[in-house]
Amino acid sequence: MKILVTGGAGYIGSHTLVELLRAGHQVVVFDNLSNSSVVALERVAKISVGGITFFKGDLCSPADLHQVFSQHAIDAVIHFAGLKAVGESVEKPLLYYLNNVAGTANLCQTMVEAGVRMLVFSSSATVYGDPRSLPLREDAPTGATNPYGRTKLFIEEMLRDLAGSDAAWRIAILRYFNPIGAHPSGLIGENPRGIPNNLFPFITQVAIGQRPSLSVFGNDYPTVDGTGVRDYIHVVDLARGHVCALERLATYAGVLTINLGTGQGYSVLQMIQAFRHVSGRDIPYQIVARRAGDIASCYADPSLARQELGWQAEYGLEEMCRDGWNWQRHNPKGYVESN
Ligand code: NAD
Ligand code: UDP
Repeated sequence: MKILVTGGAGYIGSHTLVELLRAGHQVVVFDNLSNSSVVALERVAKISVGGITFFKGDLCSPADLHQVFSQHAIDAVIHFAGLKAVGESVEKPLLYYLNNVAGTANLCQTMVEAGVRMLVFSSSATVYGDPRSLPLREDAPTGATNPYGRTKLFIEEMLRDLAGSDAAWRIAILRYFNPIGAHPSGLIGENPRGIPNNLFPFITQVAIGQRPSLSVFGNDYPTVDGTGVRDYIHVVDLARGHVCALERLATYAGVLTINLGTGQGYSVLQMIQAFRHVSGRDIPYQIVARRAGDIASCYADPSLARQELGWQAEYGLEEMCRDGWNWQRHNPKGYVESN
């Protein structure tokens, strides 16, 4: 199939390109590069067979979207493009609603006009808010605690309304838990701009000496050691999940909502310990106050993904740390553009 990958130059998108090409699909990347680099696409090309067509465009521009759909006979869309920083979404909610929600509406409108009805959407475990019980099944109550999370919830609802309006739609809503790590080649990985918000890239930057120490946000949660527990998933496993979802949509009409997680939670201190073990580096840290809006624990029940997609995570924590460290060591400044 010919797949339009919005946000394909980003962290999860670039890893998914590798898996799509490996599965024999053709890819067209649509990205405005607001949080990514074309170098990622050059690197994907190095580890893949098959070409990547890149279209620099913005979801907020219907003209850009029309152009890409008129230039290519697209069969399906994998929609990663969006802004994802929780703190920024609190400061600039309209930016998030315009970019993520209105941008997705523009994309879907263009798909309708082009007669394309197959879509895989990047949602997030953040739509579960503060879980009442664990592990999280897809039918757990939803309720986001910040504007970023609400954009995901609103988009999910919009997609369900769309499918309700026209039975030809085939949509997979994938709720990611916490993607970390990098491609084992060390050529592509996460490239945060500025100070990382997330735990794992912060740890790798401390390990390489770019930051003096990690602040652990609270050690008084009701968890194994008091620090927050999350379901970390290797980004390559996550990427593979998208190929499985696409294959499933070939025979599924309507909306499939699926968790992509491992089902295993690890605390912040367990993550530090695992990373120290793999890298042989010290990770100095200090305990500080809880981060506003954080929850104690979050991990998936991944059984629906196994049932519906035939997918399950294959990599464990050691491989996540190994590949994330390999990427950080070989690319201490992330992607460096030559011009
Ligand atoms: P990323 O920032 O690396 O990738 C997003 C890509 O979208 C970037 O390349 C950016 O340039 C592009 N983009 C943003 N706005 C755009 C627009 N208006 N038009 C065109 N391109 C645009 O992020 P990621 O970590 O790869 O996340 C991909 C998706 O998965 C996002 O929708 C994110 O919300 C979701 N998600 C990510 C995580 C995570 O922890 N990384 C967890 C759950 C869900
Ligand atoms: N965390 C931390 N220090 C950091 C970043 C994160 O202690 O610098 C903790 C955070 O409180 C949470 C876990 O690490 O318990 C994962 O945080 P992340 O932001 O990566 O994911 P999210 O909270 O969005 O699931």
